[in-house]
Amino acid sequence: MPIVHVALDLPLNRLFDYLSEDAATQDVGRRVLVPFGREQKVGVIMAVSQQSDIAVERLKGVTQIWRDVDPLSAPLLTLLRFASEYYHHPLGPVILNALPPGLRRTKGWVPLKRRRTVASPKPRACPPLNDEQLTAAAAIHAQRHHFYAFLLKGITGSGKTEVYLEAISAAVREGGQVLVLVPEINLTPALEHRFRERLPDIHLVSLHSHLTEKERVARWLEAQSGEAAVILGTRLAVFCPIPRLRLIVVDEEHDPSYKQQEGLRYSARNLSIVRAQLEKIPVVLGSATPSLESWFNARSNRYHLLTLSRRAQTNATLPAIQLVEPPREVVAQGLSPAALGALGERLMRGEQSLVFINRRGYSPALVCNQCGWVCSCDRCSARLVVHLRAREMRCHHCGHHRPIPHHCPTCGNAQLFTAGEGTQKIEARLREHFPDARILRVDSDSLARVNAWAETAAAISAGEVDILVGTQVLVKGHDFPRITLVVALNVDGALYSNDFRGSERLFAQLVQVAGRAGRAEHPGEVVIQTAFPGHPLFTAIRHHDYEQFAALELDTRRMAGFPPFIHQAILRASSISEKAVIRFMENALGSAHHLVQEGVLVFDPVPPAMARLAGKTRLQLLVQCAQRSELQSFLSAWQNALFETPESRVNWVLDVDPLEL
Ligand code: ADP
Ligand code: ZN
Ligand code: ZN
Repeated sequence: MPIVHVALDLPLNRLFDYLSEDAATQDVGRRVLVPFGREQKVGVIMAVSQQSDIAVERLKGVTQIWRDVDPLSAPLLTLLRFASEYYHHPLGPVILNALPPGLRRTKGWVPLKRRRTVASPKPRACPPLNDEQLTAAAAIHAQRHHFYAFLLKGITGSGKTEVYLEAISAAVREGGQVLVLVPEINLTPALEHRFRERLPDIHLVSLHSHLTEKERVARWLEAQSGEAAVILGTRLAVFCPIPRLRLIVVDEEHDPSYKQQEGLRYSARNLSIVRAQLEKIPVVLGSATPSLESWFNARSNRYHLLTLSRRAQTNATLPAIQLVEPPREVVAQGLSPAALGALGERLMRGEQSLVFINRRGYSPALVCNQCGWVCSCDRCSARLVVHLRAREMRCHHCGHHRPIPHHCPTCGNAQLFTAGEGTQKIEARLREHFPDARILRVDSDSLARVNAWAETAAAISAGEVDILVGTQVLVKGHDFPRITLVVALNVDGALYSNDFRGSERLFAQLVQVAGRAGRAEHPGEVVIQTAFPGHPLFTAIRHHDYEQFAALELDTRRMAGFPPFIHQAILRASSISEKAVIRFMENALGSAHHLVQEGVLVFDPVPPAMARLAGKTRLQLLVQCAQRSELQSFLSAWQNALFETPESRVNWVLDVDPLEL
């Protein structure tokens, strides 16, 4: 009787064998229901054979093979195997995770009733592309039958999206499908709308985690059946089955949200390169501020660099950038006289302004100035954030919340003060200062409601807002042509953070923020408040000079031995038992030293910045190597050792190419 080898969502590095009377090789990639212990589990058939390492009498039979949906294709399974091996994550969870949740249910799935209610915007003609855009689009088209990685570097507003559209429509005209990745769920509606305007006859589906379960299954199936020509999605879409895939576009490729921070810690950007390689197709990474990894790859000719150096719309210029050092006594208030003056001018002229502060809530700390007590989370190594609107203290890491204390629990002082600013405090200050202005705060708190983003964006576009106060959710990629002034507050922390990627992130953020100012005919102005106006990062920002910044930063990284000059992986472990996690790490360190080869550097375990999270103690252990392949073979051996010596109550995961140390 045929034996099926099944991937199950279990943290074990192996497949599970079952008997099946009618299984055939065509069933590889199909979903299957199998008995496991006392329950039934959904798995995916990875192979069908006549052999098992387990005696046949001891094998159980499958409950059911589901043939209602096409199997996962061989190329997709290859990609998933690669992800499992490269990220050192068990294959079962990797495979099951690639299915939409609706197809992982033991009850089977209920097909969505077809209702094609696609909003049909008015078609909009393509503007005639400029020389740089034409060159870029032609270069991509010329490589359409090969693997080729392009880095499309273009300043904000230079027309990168038009280049994507050109390349996409060419690929679709030739019968292909295209995968377009975007970093943020909030960005999909805007981009979807723009794509539909420009490609009205093309069947496009968007794929992200805010869809209902049924919708997500339906769209996934439209991609798999080849009906959908363009699949626009967040990082999870990199695992979507797309049988006639001819092109992959990764917009804002530098964005950290392409990296999944739990479970399989994959980088959707890096996997899209691998997928393009497997499918022998071109992939386009686009950004105004490429990640230093991608920039380094372009400089060393691993990626082909395409450049858009000016804003696409005639007359649109880059904003003037001003660095303002606020007087000391003003820092506490958050807004310098220069910033307030610039905001006042815009109000008089009836133009929109944006105040960017990357911290939500009212204030990041509640402090007693008599004894130095700081209101902290009991479960995490973090301060609680004051949320004045909701009248509570909130932990931004574990969600813990409680009422705002009225006096200091240590010394009884009733005069607690809020240190530092969040969006709510800046909003309050602005209301005091400009009582007649229409002020809107936009952060993940204000966007928590369904449809909040659509309403917010509509209000901004309609000019119903004078001053926007927002975090990066407001800044990423959105186009609000009425904004002529951007004020950036509270940026200095990132300059001196102990994360070596801090300045790379800050640079990208500031360029994005600055890109919001003066996108249309109105010239824009940017005011950055900083105590360090002479810092080289700001010099590069002022000159709109990414390459200068990247050269400086790469030099620093080369000298310090940081990525992209070396490759890293982190073992992360956590447990409610501090003893257990320490013991686990000691064993892990022991086996690492035992297995380590020349060239691989094993550091000592240390607590991460968040040493406690949601009541669990955390430890991490960094390993690094100049050669990726040597690091990989070390990780494989180490992973096996870690699986062989489990420690109960300890969760652990390997994070390959970590973005956070
Ligand atoms: P990016 O994606 O690089 O930020 P976009 O593609 O959004 O830039 O283009 C910025 C603006 O310029 C958009 O309003 C777009 O319609 C316009 N645009 C793009 N290319 C051209 C062009 N060749 N001629 C005129 N306008 C253009
Ligand atoms: Zn006190
Ligand atoms: Zn907490």
